Amino acid sequence: MTRKKNKRIISLLITAILFCTIISSAIFTVSANSLIGVVDYISGGNGTFWVRGWAFHTGNSSVSNGIHVYIGGPAGSSNAIGYDLGRMNLLRPDVNAVYGLPANSIHGYDRTITTSKTGLQDVYVYAINYVAGGNVFLGMSMVFITPTGTQPGFYSSQGGLANRNVTIQLTGTATTAPWNNIINGASTMWNSSGAGVNISTTTAPGPYAHVLIVRPETGVTWRGMCQKSPAGNIFATTSAIIINTLVVDNPSPTEPAPHNINLLRMSTVVHEFGHLFWLADSPNSGNAATLMFANRNRMSIFVPQVFDENNVRALYG
Ligand SMILES: [Zn+2]
Repeated sequence: MTRKKNKRIISLLITAILFCTIISSAIFTVSANSLIGVVDYISGGNGTFWVRGWAFHTGNSSVSNGIHVYIGGPAGSSNAIGYDLGRMNLLRPDVNAVYGLPANSIHGYDRTITTSKTGLQDVYVYAINYVAGGNVFLGMSMVFITPTGTQPGFYSSQGGLANRNVTIQLTGTATTAPWNNIINGASTMWNSSGAGVNISTTTAPGPYAHVLIVRPETGVTWRGMCQKSPAGNIFATTSAIIINTLVVDNPSPTEPAPHNINLLRMSTVVHEFGHLFWLADSPNSGNAATLMFANRNRMSIFVPQVFDENNVRALYG
């Protein structure tokens, strides 16, 4: 497909609210003999993604034009997979009314596409010219696609990091024994797992995008917390893991004596690291053991389990 720059798109607002991405603020200078159109929605699903919008040719509004969609990059990029949706086949009375087009002319598209790509992916939409002139780029957005067969509950609605290589700055109590040893041990547990991740730690002065803090947090019941920003089903660019020294050493009823404090702590840190890679708390794993169960026995489950490794790999590739 030949892609030509569409200078008629003056403004295109892209929101990064995944699962419900809205892209419909294009403003056009309508001129004769050209394609114009928009992307109304691009969103991700479970092994699928969805595109919807419209386009028509100002020189011949009775013809339905085509739509090409690419995932993984723009048309022509080596990583992109393209889909020819054929000619548009959805009646859009709203578009016909606004632009004064024949009432029965067909200028809409609305399609759910099955894909093998997972995780965060760029989707590009182009209108294909069946009248005269070039094709036009209609819009793009990033979507979050969960792997086929997994449940949405496997992955946190609070997002995750863009990739699996992360350097985390240790501060305060986290920099000294025994905590620095526990944290580095937790990193090793992930790095030597089958999840394909690489966590490294540093005590050098920042700023770093990712920090781990060990401190008392009064008035709360959580052992550890992983805060990601920006929040939502999107790439987090910064993160802060907090380990609460007032709670982390307390065993739960599922953790019978004798208690190994180091394992209670390590399991908590390893669990919080799992949140960096998009894993959710207490997924429905069937009978499979998972590090992400809040009520796991931390003395027996303190490394990423096969279930956890598979979920990370399924998401990041
Ligand atoms: Zn958690």
